Amino acid sequence: MLDLAIAGATAVTPGGVLARDVGVRAGKIVQVAAPGNLESAATTIDARGMLLLPGAIDAHTHLDAEMYNAHTIDDFESGTVAAAAGGVTSIIDYAFQPDGGTLADAIAKWHAKAVRRAVIDYGFHVAILDPSPATIAEIASVAERGVTSFKIFMMRGFEARARDFMRAFRAVADAGAMLTIHAEDEHVIGYCTERLLGAGKFAVANFPASRPPLSEAAAVERGLAMASSADAPAYFVHLSSAGALSAIRRARARGQTVLAETRPIYLYLTEERFLEPNAEKYVGFPPLRSERDCEAVWEAIADGTIDVLATDHCSWNLAHKSAPDRFTRIPPGMANLETLVPMLYSEGVVKRRLPLARFVDLIAANPARIFGLYPRKGAIAEGSDADLIVFDPNRQVVIRSHQMHSRADYDVFEGFEVTGWPRQTISRGEVVAIDRQSAARAGRGLYLERARFNSAWRSL
Ligand SMILES: [Zn+2]
Repeated sequence: MLDLAIAGATAVTPGGVLARDVGVRAGKIVQVAAPGNLESAATTIDARGMLLLPGAIDAHTHLDAEMYNAHTIDDFESGTVAAAAGGVTSIIDYAFQPDGGTLADAIAKWHAKAVRRAVIDYGFHVAILDPSPATIAEIASVAERGVTSFKIFMMRGFEARARDFMRAFRAVADAGAMLTIHAEDEHVIGYCTERLLGAGKFAVANFPASRPPLSEAAAVERGLAMASSADAPAYFVHLSSAGALSAIRRARARGQTVLAETRPIYLYLTEERFLEPNAEKYVGFPPLRSERDCEAVWEAIADGTIDVLATDHCSWNLAHKSAPDRFTRIPPGMANLETLVPMLYSEGVVKRRLPLARFVDLIAANPARIFGLYPRKGAIAEGSDADLIVFDPNRQVVIRSHQMHSRADYDVFEGFEVTGWPRQTISRGEVVAIDRQSAARAGRGLYLERARFNSAWRSL
């Protein structure tokens, strides 16, 4: 007897897009069968006319984070409720090494934030802010405990300690872990910002000019050279520009192991938004780019240059975003966990004919493969966790911030008309959201201890 059967859907499986019924027992997928061939079940979801997708994995979130002397609006409860409502069943959040503290301190602090709050499963990356010998010595034991990815920022205090950071790159690779890199050149940004502020250009309309596309391309090139010298695989977060993506392609052609992520805002919004009133709400690092860069990101989504779409969910209210008197003081980021899946379906699959298999790679299979969760997560396969989206490909939704589950009081995609939305989100066999309403209990989410990076990830 199955606990749950999902019958009648078209399923996106590792073997193709097929009519398949899925049977669940004890939180796992135990049967993936041709229609009408499941064992009997205690509960059956009639999914005729629906797509069945693996639950999405958002590999880049910032819940309950502190920056710019403020605290993000979403904690692990509201953030994961929003995630579940949008079809996301796992997140990997960034724990930050505290000032004067260890990586273990960071992870302990993040466990305390997530436990008793998360409604879906969660893992952690850890950001290395102080690449001291003591920190570097800690990397292997942190990876041993299932935190198998380490982030470095190239834009704050990186240059003064670049060689120490390279030692950290090597230690991360030695530990079999993944290095994630925020690539923006701190000197290009520093120079451009100084020029703008010196000329009295404080308004947010000047923000994109303070962090031009070249600052990203330059940092990606240098990050690639450093990772290659340290013989470390590298994953570049939220790439936004044509130049950076070309650098990734060239590195792959040279045989370097390099992974690439982008984030939704670079696909759906361009820099003209900074001329709108309340344009502070669009500020994130790097900035929104030109139409040409936007098209380059779409091309990279389609041709496989980009491996992962992740939100960088970092939520603020409009009051936080619009208070500062100059663009350098606006806290970066925005809430967008709930729209990750439906927006890519609507703008990508429906409008640009992105194949369903590629769609699922970007939001589920690839983040699972790269970050040591596959095939437990990211696949509709026997033995995998029953993390699933029953997705209605015809549902029309106009995005309205007051209907979203983030506590943020605005949505950067306000007014977008979307075709396709999750009907049910299922986490380990349990319906955690239905018809855009949360059905989950706070604290039911489990911590994900992740495996090490498998360099054969593309063939997993
Ligand atoms: Zn981030």
